Amino acid sequence: MHYAETIVDLVGNTPLVKLSRVTEGIEATVLVKLEYFNPGGSSKDRIATRIIDAAEREGKLKPGGTIVEPTSGNTGVGLALVAQQRGYRCVFVCPDKVGEDKRNVLTAYGAEVVVTPTAVAPESPESYYSVSDRLAAEIPGAFKPNQYSNPNGPLSHYESTGPEIWRDTDGRITHFVAGVGTGGTISGTGRYLREVSNDSVRIIGADPVGSVYSGGTGRPYLVEGVGEDFWPEAYNPAIPHEIIAVTDAESFDMTRRLAREEGILVGGSSGMAVVAALKAAASAGPDDVFVVLLPDGGRGYLGKIFNDKWLRAYGFTNSPSGHTVANILA
Ligand code: PMP
Repeated sequence: MHYAETIVDLVGNTPLVKLSRVTEGIEATVLVKLEYFNPGGSSKDRIATRIIDAAEREGKLKPGGTIVEPTSGNTGVGLALVAQQRGYRCVFVCPDKVGEDKRNVLTAYGAEVVVTPTAVAPESPESYYSVSDRLAAEIPGAFKPNQYSNPNGPLSHYESTGPEIWRDTDGRITHFVAGVGTGGTISGTGRYLREVSNDSVRIIGADPVGSVYSGGTGRPYLVEGVGEDFWPEAYNPAIPHEIIAVTDAESFDMTRRLAREEGILVGGSSGMAVVAALKAAASAGPDDVFVVLLPDGGRGYLGKIFNDKWLRAYGFTNSPSGHTVANILA
């Protein structure tokens, strides 16, 4: 019989698939790594496993302990999944702008969700940073993973994502492309690929226009999970060779094309990473092999990126082909 002992044992070893339609005119091979094949549906399952393992080893998380983290998205799902398997309680703090559907996913896994007002300053006692700090201090046996500064985030990608890509491409990868949020994915995977290839793999970050990684000031953008208005410790600026800035319109257009033309239903940060990869691949040759990491699936974005009404409300419009979007405000 061939089966996993627990759901957590299915984290990682996600597949690569070649893009064939959206790559028209490009000579290089462009492969995408589908992180939605992880049991919690995103690359964050990888960091959750390693962060909880390390906290147990270091005695920061003891039997019956509670995980407290300000998160509304994929990290919460990953942590909830691993915590449930090991008998920990999870308390997640979410701002009220986070949709009910997203909160319901967390509670479905057995986590508790505390909702805080969005319209308050970060230093306010009601802000989601302050509330999570207070809960972490008040709840006995509480552990706060802090994905923005926890070194086990990038380490999980150094130990799993990087080696998987090297193995699955038989060491033929020439370029690695990933979006930058906490920076854990690009820093960990990029460091491994640079080390194992004698520094021959080029590491390319993708970033929303407006975010600090591509020289912005934190100006708002709509793509979720990537870009920052500060420099997290999980990000190692020495790893990427280049950061490519991508607009929301480009990201959403590509996200929709991936679903319609490649049958790959993924989130907006995946579309963004593919846009950056295709820009870099435009000048690459037939022997080049690009691997683009796609962090999550598209089901969580049906009411947004895949919804014409939502796009129009934000100033995007359908292009004549009917399935792409252009920013009419640009
Ligand atoms: N895309 C999505 C949807 C994410 O949730 C995240 C994680 N914040 C990222 C991309 C970026 O990954 P990282 O935090 O490792 O930079």
